[in-house]
Amino acid sequence: MASIFITRKIPDVGIDMLKAKGYEVDVYPEDRVPTQAELIEFLSKKPYDAVICLLTDEIDAKVFDAVPTAKLFATYTVGFNNIDVAEAKKRGIVVTNTAGASRVPVAEHAMALMLGLTTRLVEADQYTRDGKYEGWSPMHFIGEDFSGKTLGLVGTGAIGSEVARMAHHGFNVNIIYSDPRPNEQIEKDYGAVRHELDDVLKMADLVSIHVPLMDSTHHLINADKLKLMKPTAFLVNTSRGPVIDEAALVTALQNKTIAGAGLDVYEFEPKLSPGLADLQNAILTPHIASARIEARNEMAQIVANNVIDFFEGKTPRNEIKM
Ligand code: NAD
Repeated sequence: MASIFITRKIPDVGIDMLKAKGYEVDVYPEDRVPTQAELIEFLSKKPYDAVICLLTDEIDAKVFDAVPTAKLFATYTVGFNNIDVAEAKKRGIVVTNTAGASRVPVAEHAMALMLGLTTRLVEADQYTRDGKYEGWSPMHFIGEDFSGKTLGLVGTGAIGSEVARMAHHGFNVNIIYSDPRPNEQIEKDYGAVRHELDDVLKMADLVSIHVPLMDSTHHLINADKLKLMKPTAFLVNTSRGPVIDEAALVTALQNKTIAGAGLDVYEFEPKLSPGLADLQNAILTPHIASARIEARNEMAQIVANNVIDFFEGKTPRNEIKM
């Protein structure tokens, strides 16, 4: 019977699906990120047939060498930049992700960050808790409307399209976007207009990033791109940290060449670039955009379904084809 190794505890619903099929399931015994060396040591102990991994695991040739019997690496994430997919393909190893499950929660999180910035929610909360509130004042904590603004989406796949839907229907926002692939659906449904990235950055009041991390998107937003943004504009990133040159962003926020940023992901996470945590005009969350009970359970079911597809001789439904 197939044996599967999971690099960290995931919701029971997925593990139960695998056990119900009679598969043997081993989970890394500690609830923390194993180092690559620890992972390799563990994987070398048993001829596992498949590995379920997380975005915090660096999966490359060294890991594949440690467990040559494993012909499936199923990541419990949408992004798969942590896996050397080209090397996997060379070795005939199938890689799958959990595309789909994070669409709504990540879009909601991007919306929360954008609304948090326009309403100055986090700053105002801290001020109130600090006992500084002395009574209503006409010019106190002036924010701005999100409604009616121009939202620039960079990447309009599953999550970017959902942000377009929420922003258009909920807030009557004008949608502009940049994506190498035209998105006819959001153009038709929400009146979105496609532009080059530079033009999106120049025109948008808020920019929200939803691209995968690849060589072509590493530092997609660098110092030069930040200079194109309006001084009143906000930047939100719920995709992957290295898509933004974080040092350049800290400088732009310190110099107020842009108005603010909302980040869920960081270039060197879990570390923050120097100065970032001191900025009042940034809202920072610890990579929790998909951390909702519904999404995490659905991700566990998707990852289990991919494993089951694989062992039942079908093409896994979320196979990464590169
Ligand atoms: P997706 O594959 O459905 O969409 C990505 C889109 O980006 C595609 O339309 C693609 O054409 C576009 N794109 C690629 N290169 C681009 C470029 N240079 N400029 C503009 N657009 C470009 O992916 P998705 O499901 O929407 O997820 C997007 C990313 O969000 C994931 O790759 C993942 O890294 C991240 N994510 C983060 C969290 C979180 O917890 N913060 C959770 C889920 C996903």
